[in-house]
Amino acid sequence: MTDKLDALVVGGGPAGLTAALYLARFRRRVMVADEGDPRAAWIPSSHNIPFFADGIPGPEILRRHRAALAPYGIRVLRARVATLRRDGRDFVAELDGHAPVRARHVLLATGSRDNEPDLPDLPDAVRRGLIRYCPVCDGYESRGQRIGVIGHGAGGAGEAAFIARTYSDDITLLTLGRPMEIDADNRATLDRHRVRIVERPVTAVEVQGDRIAAIRIDGQELRFDVLYSALGLRYRTELADALGAARDAKGALTVDAGMMTSVPGLYAAGDIVAGLDQIVVGMSHAAIAATRIHNACAMRTEDEG
Ligand SMILES: Cc1cc2nc3c(=O)[nH]c(=O)nc-3n(C[C@H](O)[C@H](O)[C@H](O)COP(=O)(O)OP(=O)(O)OC[C@H]3O[C@@H](n4cnc5c(N)ncnc54)[C@H](O)[C@@H]3O)c2cc1C
Repeated sequence: MTDKLDALVVGGGPAGLTAALYLARFRRRVMVADEGDPRAAWIPSSHNIPFFADGIPGPEILRRHRAALAPYGIRVLRARVATLRRDGRDFVAELDGHAPVRARHVLLATGSRDNEPDLPDLPDAVRRGLIRYCPVCDGYESRGQRIGVIGHGAGGAGEAAFIARTYSDDITLLTLGRPMEIDADNRATLDRHRVRIVERPVTAVEVQGDRIAAIRIDGQELRFDVLYSALGLRYRTELADALGAARDAKGALTVDAGMMTSVPGLYAAGDIVAGLDQIVVGMSHAAIAATRIHNACAMRTEDEG
């Protein structure tokens, strides 16, 4: 068991690393445990982070982030936190391959995972940059182009409508063989934006270089410049679930204004929290949570019940 930390940060993406920087500068005893699979690493080039007008790739963001922690001697341990439990007022984390860690506070910045579309002979389409996930992030670069959106239900309809009213009037929704299943309001919105809906399964995909050039559906060929997937996310809340933390209807952790979950002393930041899944948002969450943790340390543990 390590000496007791003021805070254990679980997750070394933009949210977790920002929290660690703040806590280090508050002179707190902090450690980051990171399994090493951040969504941020999937970003080909981000254009919506201020200070990087020419864009910056996700891996470079992470490299710079970790480098910013180096002067403070903060430990970023490559390890999965397997379990988290309460022991009196403390938390005890069991880590794969390392000694358990005891901490007064825990910040979960474990992020989420995208549900990948199941396209024929096309594993890892998103990691390979063939399919995009985030029109908020890079829709601007797709303006005026032929855009396919993989999705169904209210989520698929919402994303198609968002892109149609913001970036392009050439949008096709591909449900990959599922029924569209939307209510009359969503149907009217899609009709208003002249979004085409294709409910038949995709039978073949033609890849040319770094893009999907064509999709075949029963002999019919559809050509797109850009393909987005809108199949939703799975929030990585397992550690919080074991402690009984509250989640919203979509499965994201609910937090108070100081980013504390319903479990006293357990905080959350980044994609794991409901809201806009964006780097600047996750960093803001982390700054608030870290400051609240610092203040809670100064106040001893009154707010931990
Ligand atoms: C293709 C793509 C493009 C994007 N483009 C942009 C963009 O241009 N601009 C933008 O602002 N956002 C963009 N995003 C969204 C952005 O990547 C996320 O909002 C951001 O990465 C969230 O940061 P996070 O720290 O919450 O989570 P993550 O970056 O996902 O990091 C979470 C970390 O926690 C670790 N972890 C999980 N569970 C455990 C555990 N039990 N123990 C230890 N570690 C654990 C994971 O392995 C991971 O390393 C994009 C996302 C994708 C997929």
